[in-house]
Amino acid sequence: MLHLSDPNLPARVSAKLAEYQDEIDEVENYAERVTLGKSRFSSRNTTTNATFRVVRARLSEMCSGAQRCVYCEDSVGDEVEHIKPKDLYPEDVFRWPNYIYACGPCNGGKNNKFAVINQGNLVIVTRPRGAPITPPSLGDPAFINPRTEDPLAFLTIDLLGTFLILPCEGLDPVAESRAKFTIEVLNLNRDLLLDARQNAFGGYRARLLEYRHRRDDGADVNELNALRDDLLATPHPTVWAEMKRQAPFIPTLQDLFEAVPEANEWLD
Ligand SMILES: [Zn+2]
Repeated sequence: MLHLSDPNLPARVSAKLAEYQDEIDEVENYAERVTLGKSRFSSRNTTTNATFRVVRARLSEMCSGAQRCVYCEDSVGDEVEHIKPKDLYPEDVFRWPNYIYACGPCNGGKNNKFAVINQGNLVIVTRPRGAPITPPSLGDPAFINPRTEDPLAFLTIDLLGTFLILPCEGLDPVAESRAKFTIEVLNLNRDLLLDARQNAFGGYRARLLEYRHRRDDGADVNELNALRDDLLATPHPTVWAEMKRQAPFIPTLQDLFEAVPEANEWLD
């Protein structure tokens, strides 16, 4: 998961979302706002709704590769995910900064799981099934938000064998609890993802080696740019970002990146 750049929405689309949101916000009772927000979202988040057609196109641009899920970077991301769940935060149901494209396993697994940081403690605010619909405890979101934060400030990948996503070392206790919560809620260490990251790591390394060899053999700039673009189209851009970040500490990567220093400038 990487920090996302934010493509602007056209003004008419922003205005329409604001109009949709106002309809929810003007309902006085919280439980009724939750119910209305959910039903209005499902009736409007359709392929025939002009506003959501644009929203979805913009969300697609924010994904890596072939519209990969922002969270796991592995499966197709084609579900409009509310970073702050609509079940808990009706005030964010139609807010553009609250959307990303996620895959079914990430979106469905996360569902309405959420937590906040309240006085330095992580407080789970997921509403149990059947519980009364009351507002969640106050506090800043614990879940790492890739639209507003750099996930790499919290999370790292073990490139030396397990390919687990782990909290970065040396985090303060609050940041560490946020990292752990995010990993758990998204189930970022499911077996398939470990295999996929390992595979991506090998793929990036092989492509970088090929680039190095072709460059040293005198390939022209067009060929080298094509090799670079192929590398950057490899799924799992977080693995690539981590390879660059960890290269100084992993001898085989260190040699490679020292031989191809321009690779440090290639965008994820
Ligand atoms: Zn996913």
